Amino acid sequence: MFVTVLNYEGQMLQHSRPTIDAEDVKAVTQVLQSGYIAQGLLVEEFENRFRKFLGVEWAVATNSGSSALHLSLLALGVGRGDEVILPSYVCVAVLNAVRYVGAEAKLCDICEEDLNLRVRDIKKEINKRTRAIILTHTFGQPADIEEFLGLGIPIIEDCAQSLGAKYKGKRIGSLGAISIFSFYATKMIATGHGGMVASDSQILAQKIRDFREFDERQNYKVRYNYKMSDIEASLGLSQIAKLDTFISKRKEIAQIYDEAFSGYGMEIPHRKERADHIFYRYVIKVESGLDKIITRLARKGIEAKRPIYKPLHQYLVLDKRNFPNTEEAYNSLLSLPIYPSLGRDKAEFIARTVGDLVFGNDLSRTPA
Ligand SMILES: *Cc1c(COP(=O)(O)O)cnc(C)c1O
Repeated sequence: MFVTVLNYEGQMLQHSRPTIDAEDVKAVTQVLQSGYIAQGLLVEEFENRFRKFLGVEWAVATNSGSSALHLSLLALGVGRGDEVILPSYVCVAVLNAVRYVGAEAKLCDICEEDLNLRVRDIKKEINKRTRAIILTHTFGQPADIEEFLGLGIPIIEDCAQSLGAKYKGKRIGSLGAISIFSFYATKMIATGHGGMVASDSQILAQKIRDFREFDERQNYKVRYNYKMSDIEASLGLSQIAKLDTFISKRKEIAQIYDEAFSGYGMEIPHRKERADHIFYRYVIKVESGLDKIITRLARKGIEAKRPIYKPLHQYLVLDKRNFPNTEEAYNSLLSLPIYPSLGRDKAEFIARTVGDLVFGNDLSRTPA
């Protein structure tokens, strides 16, 4: 049986959690009392707020990041017989979206430094049937999107983990043909479930809106009920107002981890000069025994995880030799608790516990 011993003042320190305050509660309560709880004016307001934040022309709210991806592929006209390039080191929602439209998923390995797709790797996968590239900005660190824009293939930016991050001073999600976001409970901002599609193209945005609303239409075609509710939008509005604070808090925690782990002589997460890492995840590399470390940390009241549950090529039973960096990341990366409400003392406790466990108990190397 799995026994958890709670060590940090009797609490289990969760791996991730939403940051909800009294303002959020008030916003949602007001919607509930208003009697207008489905998609309405607040969804429109959230969309407007969101597109201004990002600096794009159009934003369409959805009920999840998965449906945002599905509608993006539909709007680009991707379907049967087409191929879509995506990383193997990503959550399974991305593969699902490609399969929803009947297209073929061409998986690619990642760059060992930023854990994102790299142009020189995907070039081998491009052919006449390639209709889109889903470029994820993994764990809050932007991919080198500029290098992808010249390929002549529509880029869908998957910003589900990176809302607010910047690449060369511009918000990610404002550079590709379309970008998608998720407001799942533990993402950068939370609405429970929820998502957004953003684009500068009015044509694409109109198509997406058209697919999202099925009722009271003159002509019939298959459409979807992918709408966001005003309950969720009210939370989205009050959360996005706090995004900058959320990002600074995450960076503060990352700094605490950096300083502690440097004291143990260990490698800290890679940062690019041209991009702003917002630390949706803080991942460290452990040489061996990842599962054992996860279990030991749980016994000490710390919930740590593999940041990607399982790479996609393992589900599709593809040759692992083609995905050496993904395999390496899967076998060695450990994701530690990081979220705005995690206080400094808790972060320091986690840093010490992880440092001692992974890098030995030598107190002389423990930072003061
Ligand atoms: C969370 C996530 C999604 C899916 O979003 P949902 O809102 O959970 O459907 C897609 N891509 C990435 C990279 C994600 O992290």
